[in-house]
Amino acid sequence: MIHVRGLKKNYGPVQAVKGIDFTVLGNAFFALLGPNGAGKSTTIEIIATLLAPASGTVEVDGHTLGVEDDAIRDTLGVVFQYSTLDPVLSVYENLKIRAAFYGLTGDDYAARLKALDDRIQFSHYADQPVRTLSGGQRRKADIARALLHSPRILILDEPTTGLDPKSRKEIWSLILALKKQTDMTIFLTTHYMEEVLDADHVIIMNEGEIVAEDSAENLRLTYANDTLKVIPRDGLSAKLESESIAYRTVNRTLHIPLDNPFQGLDYLNRFREDIETFEIIKASMDDVFLNITGRKLEGNHDH
Ligand code: ADP
Repeated sequence: MIHVRGLKKNYGPVQAVKGIDFTVLGNAFFALLGPNGAGKSTTIEIIATLLAPASGTVEVDGHTLGVEDDAIRDTLGVVFQYSTLDPVLSVYENLKIRAAFYGLTGDDYAARLKALDDRIQFSHYADQPVRTLSGGQRRKADIARALLHSPRILILDEPTTGLDPKSRKEIWSLILALKKQTDMTIFLTTHYMEEVLDADHVIIMNEGEIVAEDSAENLRLTYANDTLKVIPRDGLSAKLESESIAYRTVNRTLHIPLDNPFQGLDYLNRFREDIETFEIIKASMDDVFLNITGRKLEGNHDH
């Protein structure tokens, strides 16, 4: 659905995107993960025809960026990080104006509005001016507007950033439901690790470059180990060392990286006598990011 080749963009001396290649397949749930400043928004804005690349090619559903931009805009529904609804107008007024722009009026518009409300549930506040809405309500209205023209691809730039935890959950469930109930391709950017766990395909971006790409599960398997944590009895470290099994000591516990969870079972059976108690910790996507880039994803505070 989307092919990006050799994409570069700089803002003066700042190289925001340094020549990236990726493909988003049809019907996929595709996540672009990276910390603030990685180049995610820049990439999205280029695909959405809002920003011209310095070089490289982008094709969206067979349409070439820079040549068939109108066709690309018809294919895409885009929800930007910051709401682009008119704050003075009500949700209905915002939607109506956008619908008219697509030639969607009368009964067709009413039917579309009803279908969107069945999915997204915004009608109970849709008469209010947008400026009076909560962050979550506004985000839903943004999503409804992006879907008015039944796009084949929905692009969401950090859709849950800046929302309170309850609204984040709600918006996330809505996105998962859209994924399940429609055959739209969903392409989102995020700096929250937990959000990429649901994606079919993940690209990790850092400082304008793609640093890893795979399914969430494969990234976890490749770049992060499950860990066997044990509280040892006296002889354990010596035994591990004599068998060249790597471990780290953290306070009273030993952390033993595992190639797979069954290796943990093997160790537990072999060293049972030397272990007081244990747990197996599943590797997280945070470990993946740390292992690939050498830095933590500052994912848990909003900006
Ligand atoms: P992300 O979406 O991953 O946070 P951005 O694409 O917004 O990353 O930014 C990538 C880099 O480009 C950052 O270093 C950012 O400071 C810079 N940048 C983004 N927009 C502009 C702009 N309009 N002018 C100058 N620099 C910019």
